Amino acid sequence: MRSFLHALLAAAICCPSVSLAGELTVDFLDVGQGDAMLIRAGGKAVLIDAGIKRARVAAQLAALDVTSLDLVIVSHPHADHMGGMEEVLRSMPVGLYIDNGMPHTTQTYAKLMVAVEELGIPYRSGRTGMELKLGDEAVMNVILPGDTLLRDTRSDLNSNSVVVVLTHGEMDFLFTGDAEEPTEGLISRQSLPSIDVLKVAHHGSDHSSSTSFLRTVNPPIAVISCGEDNRYGHPAPEALERLNSAGALVYRTDQSGHIRAISDGTTVEMLELGNFTGITVEPRAMREIGAPSIVATTVDIHTRPVLQTVTEPAGPAETSTSGMSLSGVRVVPVEPPLTPRERRKRDRKERRDARRQ
Ligand SMILES: [Zn+2]
Repeated sequence: MRSFLHALLAAAICCPSVSLAGELTVDFLDVGQGDAMLIRAGGKAVLIDAGIKRARVAAQLAALDVTSLDLVIVSHPHADHMGGMEEVLRSMPVGLYIDNGMPHTTQTYAKLMVAVEELGIPYRSGRTGMELKLGDEAVMNVILPGDTLLRDTRSDLNSNSVVVVLTHGEMDFLFTGDAEEPTEGLISRQSLPSIDVLKVAHHGSDHSSSTSFLRTVNPPIAVISCGEDNRYGHPAPEALERLNSAGALVYRTDQSGHIRAISDGTTVEMLELGNFTGITVEPRAMREIGAPSIVATTVDIHTRPVLQTVTEPAGPAETSTSGMSLSGVRVVPVEPPLTPRERRKRDRKERRDARRQ
């Protein structure tokens, strides 16, 4: 479906509104250099990523009248995606927590995992085939990572971002985390619906949004979440050029602030809402990204008790993955434990990844 209505509002509007029945909204929160997207449909609310801590996503959600979340997804464990998530989890009830199942060595990650466990939030690794229904209105399908994670890429944490297709009637949104070219190649090989709104991977980095990927996905609308004058140079001029050449109309949070997409199932309306929640991210916060403090021990999410209390869905757990509601998502097989040598190698690689985020 390629029918759109673009309504552009230059200034902030008062009084955030709540989704109407039958409508789906995606709010691309203004979190400076990072990602945070709020999806509301069918009486359900989902948060994908929570920006850096100083973006105060918990406060932004409160300003948007969000009092509970049915699902949160952390695309991958970098601070510009999970920095604000612990505060979110501690500020309201959360029904389910999904991440890419890759541990990280940072304090932020360790504290977030402690919060998930302390609060008793059900946890799953997002894997291909997982289907999450948002009432009768919409459905989210996890398309990556697969059961075998990508290894030895430029950044394995980025490359194994949880990638999700959100479908509302004839409208399809693609959320890519910080996927880079190898992951975009895998996405291209999946049988995807026609994508109407693309959350551009990795803040518009030159390592993403390849010509072949954009040719396959061919999105008429693309949204880049990044901070003004960020130190990474996101979005890269080359990536912007590729998006323009692909015919995508590009929206950017560094230029428009809070961006809202409203779908009625057949059209998407895009709103540029400025400082909609009344919370601005100070530029100094951006400079702190990429310098995570390292903790001595690595939290192994696979040993956390929350995983051991999961109720298996009926049928073969490894293959029966479709048609499940938010309360019944399959358990992903646990990877075998690493040897100390393998763990040291992985930790070194993750520290390199952290510097590259
Ligand atoms: Zn990022």
